[in-house]
Amino acid sequence: MKPFDLIVVGAGILGTSHALMAARLGKTVALLEKDNRPVSATVRNFGQVVPSGLAGCWHTYGRRSVELYKEIQREFDLTVRAQGSVYLASDAEEWQIAQESAALFKDKDFPNELLSAKQTLERFPYLHDRYVQGSIFFPDDLSVEPDKMVHRLIEYGVRKYGIRYQPDTAVLACEPNGDLVEVRTAQGERLQAGRVVICSGSEFRLLFPEIYATSGLIVSKLQMLQTRPLLQVNMAANVLTGLTLRRYEAFEACPSFAQLTVPEHYIELKKWGIHILFKQATDGSIIVGDSHEYAPATATDELGFDLQDHINELMLAEAERIVKFPVRTIARSWAGYYAQHPDEVFEYEVAPRLQIITGVGGKGMTSSLGFAEENVGKWFDN
Ligand SMILES: Cc1cc2nc3c(=O)[nH]c(=O)nc-3n(C[C@H](O)[C@H](O)[C@H](O)COP(=O)(O)OP(=O)(O)OC[C@H]3O[C@@H](n4cnc5c(N)ncnc54)[C@H](O)[C@@H]3O)c2cc1C
Repeated sequence: MKPFDLIVVGAGILGTSHALMAARLGKTVALLEKDNRPVSATVRNFGQVVPSGLAGCWHTYGRRSVELYKEIQREFDLTVRAQGSVYLASDAEEWQIAQESAALFKDKDFPNELLSAKQTLERFPYLHDRYVQGSIFFPDDLSVEPDKMVHRLIEYGVRKYGIRYQPDTAVLACEPNGDLVEVRTAQGERLQAGRVVICSGSEFRLLFPEIYATSGLIVSKLQMLQTRPLLQVNMAANVLTGLTLRRYEAFEACPSFAQLTVPEHYIELKKWGIHILFKQATDGSIIVGDSHEYAPATATDELGFDLQDHINELMLAEAERIVKFPVRTIARSWAGYYAQHPDEVFEYEVAPRLQIITGVGGKGMTSSLGFAEENVGKWFDN
C-alpha cells in the first residue's frame, strides 16, 4: 500500500480533528481507532462548545473551532446548534466576577451580554429566582450532541475527503523507517506515512507507556447524569453556574478572582470537584454534571469504574437549588475520563515526524478543530 501523508492514531475529537484538517489540505490520511467506534471522553461529555470558558490561545482555538463547526454544519449535519451559553451568578462574589469578565471579553471582541436577575429569569424561566443574582450570556457558543457528533465528523471526512477510517484497529507499535514512520496494528497490518500523530486520549498502555509514566499527565474521572426527555422545558442555551464562574480559566483574569472566598455550602462540593452544568439534548433530555476525581497516568485504575451515589446526590441537590424542573427523573448516568496536563496539552516528539498529542483536559470539544488546523498547517507548511 502507498504511504499516507498522515496516519492518526485515535478517533476521538482530537485525532479526528487532525485527520480532517490534514485531509482538507489535500493530504492522504488514515485514521485508526481501536474500538468498534469511539466511546471515550469524546462521546461521554456535555457537548458544550464554549470558548467563553477558555483563556489565552485556547480561547482563540475555540473561536476558530466555532467557525469550522458552523462551516461544516452548513454542508453536513454534525448536530451543531448555535444557541449560546449563560453563566449564572448565585451570590455577590460571582456577580462581581461576571461583571468584570464582561469588560475582559469586550477587550477580546467576544460578544456577551450582562443580564440582571430579572432579565435572566425572564429569558430562562425554569431557574429558581432565589438562586439567580444575575448572569452573563455568550451568544457565540454552540451545542452539539456528544453521542453523535464525532461519528458524523468522521463520516464527513471519509465521504468528502476520502479519509481512510479503520475502527477495530488497535495500534501496537509506531517506529521510524527511513523517511517514513511505520505503524503496526493488532491484526499485524503495517501502514506507513510521512508523519504519524498519536491522539490516544487517556490510553497510556498500548504505546510508549514509559513516556506517559513521566509525562506529568493525570486522568480525571467525571460523573454525569441524564434526565428523561423533559419536553416541557426549553433550556435555550448551555447553562453554566456559579461554581463554573469560580472554576473556568476564562474568569481567572478577573481582578476579584484571587479574592474569592469559599461559602460554607460549597465546601463539600469542591471536595469532589463538582460544578454544575446543564445541557439539553435534542430529544429534550437534560445532561447534568459534573464531578472531578484525579489519578496519575500510572495509576488510572484507582479511579474505579463505579459511580458513587454520594457524588450523584450532591450534584442533584445542587441542581435542585438552581432549576425548577424535575432533575431527579434520571434515565442514565455514567463516568467519563479525560487526560489533562499542567501545560494545557501534552505534545511530545517521540522521533522526527512521530508525535504524541493528548491531555487537552476538559476543553477538547471546544478547541480541537482550531488547534488541529494550526498544527497541520505547521506540519505541511501551508
Ligand atoms: C464527562 C465529560 C464532560 C466533558 N464536557 C466537555 C464539554 O462540554 N466541552 C468540551 O469542550 N469538552 C468537554 N470534555 C472534554 C472532552 O470530552 C475531551 O477533551 C476530549 O473528548 C478529548 O478527546 P481525545 O480525542 O483527546 O480523547 P478520547 O475521546 O479519549 O479519544 C481517544 C481515542 O483514541 C483511541 N485510542 C487510544 N489508543 C489507541 C491505539 N493504540 N490504537 C487505536 N486507537 C487508540 C481510543 O479508543 C479513543 O477513541 C468533557 C469530558 C468528559 C469526560
